[in-house]
Amino acid sequence: PADAPAVLRADDVHMSFRGLKALDGVTLTVRQGEIRGIVGPNGSGKTTLFNVISGLYRPTGGRVEFGGRDVTGLPPYRLARAGISRTFQNLRLFGDLTVRENILVALDRSRTVDGWRYLLRPLSVVRGDRRLRARADEVLDRYGLTAFAGQPPRSLPYGTQRRVEIARAVAARPRLLLLDEPAAGLNGDEVRQLGEMVRSIRDSGITVVVIEHNMGLVMSLCEHITVLASGAVIAEGSPAEVAAAPAVIEAYLGD
Ligand code: ADP
Repeated sequence: PADAPAVLRADDVHMSFRGLKALDGVTLTVRQGEIRGIVGPNGSGKTTLFNVISGLYRPTGGRVEFGGRDVTGLPPYRLARAGISRTFQNLRLFGDLTVRENILVALDRSRTVDGWRYLLRPLSVVRGDRRLRARADEVLDRYGLTAFAGQPPRSLPYGTQRRVEIARAVAARPRLLLLDEPAAGLNGDEVRQLGEMVRSIRDSGITVVVIEHNMGLVMSLCEHITVLASGAVIAEGSPAEVAAAPAVIEAYLGD
């Protein structure tokens, strides 16, 4: 909604790599409760924008605000602690642990003990934590993954692994979830299940920003879409508005 508070703001963000301008003055505002789509041709700066927002890169110019606070240049662990969670284009699950253990580890890392986080406990201890286990099972249940709890992710279909990874990313209840091309490599049924999952995450109060090439998914999922080309925002608006924007049509013809 247009009057909801801003969760994320990028203000004139620049990111250069040895003179290559991957981001050339990106400004955008994502509001509480949105599912924002980020689209654009290959090399337009989408992943770089996520890397800046999640703290992997310190921008060479501009400012990032999260929850009204200036978080520019903070390291990834501080941004994670502040409530920004993300997935990557390639899966980063622990392939040998079970699905439940993957969730347990994510929950354990987000624990606060006397104000200290990231006190790593051995997996054997984490496994025996009944409260954590109950929370992990709640997460699996909410996203329809209970049937896979005892299996290692690598034994599951790719689309299910994707959903496990997203469940892990939201297990600790972040405020903002960044998804980098979650539908890549999924079949039609898997894309539909992914869409349902992302809607359910948003409905639970987590704001979502999603980079996605699957236009069918982006158009059905997002109320607002930001279009990047050559590191700049060339269009922003409803799916119908961006689809009709001449700059967008031109950018895609050149892709
Ligand atoms: P997209 O996600 O839209 O495909 P990227 O953000 O991955 O685009 O890349 C934007 C531009 O920045 C590309 O030209 C890419 O080669 C360059 N780039 C991205 N990351 C780096 C890096 N770590 N070092 C050098 N160049 C990079």
